[in-house]
Amino acid sequence: MSLLVIGSTAYDTIETPTAKRENILGGSAPFFAYAASYFGGVQMVSVVGDDWLPEYTEMFAKQGVDTSGIEIVPDGKTFRWSGKYRENMNDRDTIDTQLNVLGTFEPKLPENFRRSQYIFLANGAPSTGLAALNQIQGADLIVADTMDLWINIARQDLDTLLKRIDGLVLNDSEAKMLTGELNTVTAAKKILTLGPKFVVVKKGEHGAMFVSEYETYIVPAYPTETVVDPTGAGDSFAGGFMGYVASKGGALDGETIKNALVYGTMVASFCVEGFSFDRYKEITRSDIDKRREHFQRMVSF
Ligand code: AMP
Repeated sequence: MSLLVIGSTAYDTIETPTAKRENILGGSAPFFAYAASYFGGVQMVSVVGDDWLPEYTEMFAKQGVDTSGIEIVPDGKTFRWSGKYRENMNDRDTIDTQLNVLGTFEPKLPENFRRSQYIFLANGAPSTGLAALNQIQGADLIVADTMDLWINIARQDLDTLLKRIDGLVLNDSEAKMLTGELNTVTAAKKILTLGPKFVVVKKGEHGAMFVSEYETYIVPAYPTETVVDPTGAGDSFAGGFMGYVASKGGALDGETIKNALVYGTMVASFCVEGFSFDRYKEITRSDIDKRREHFQRMVSF
């Protein structure tokens, strides 16, 4: 399988009601890539400054992630994002965003990345996603993520991007913001008229929903008590979803979609059990499969 992700790499400062961590590894591409790596190889395209630590390249190499598409900008500073979670650990406020090298990022895909079959445009400027797509030939499946920031400041580029993708993954509130609809299902169906053939709406602790013209599937969130840091859960969900679909040869039949939703949910549930990549580093695919079996027993009726 060849699964390619293009997105941000960040040093995050995260504050929860009980703890604070400064300058820990984050970003949409790393969370996606690590989550997807439990299902097969991943190619990552991103940008960092010369404050990037070689130990992170090693960490991804160990996971089978090809990092040759990460551009290191000399004298540049890696993107910084800082967020604070409220008491419920679900809602968060962005405290600070310093785009740094991400602000002028023009993705240049290595030659061997340009014929990847499965593409994920992780959270980043829609213009970056479009620039990447212009370098890709004959992909089987192109899926993108977006967020409120881009809906607000780059709507035109986002509308162009929506016409070039097969699927869109986004939060409940973002789906409503993008369409002006108050009901999640209505919002998802309206997004289908903007270009994508399917939409996956992430609803945090309420799970996720897949909507296409003729199908709707839902999956609850895994009930976990140990939520340490929810950062990266959305990208991890997408990584598990796409990683599983890619491992099944890109088939988008009902069974594959439902299993992909479940695997996305499982990987995300591990991600939130630690800061940054702490919990991921402790687990293997077999832990994910064990949790999946437990989950299946909980939801089957
Ligand atoms: P998630 O919790 O899955 O929504 O993703 C959180 C990650 O997104 C963090 O590690 C941030 O560094 C990254 N992030 C936050 N804002 C942006 C942005 N405007 N563009 C790209 N990545 C971002």
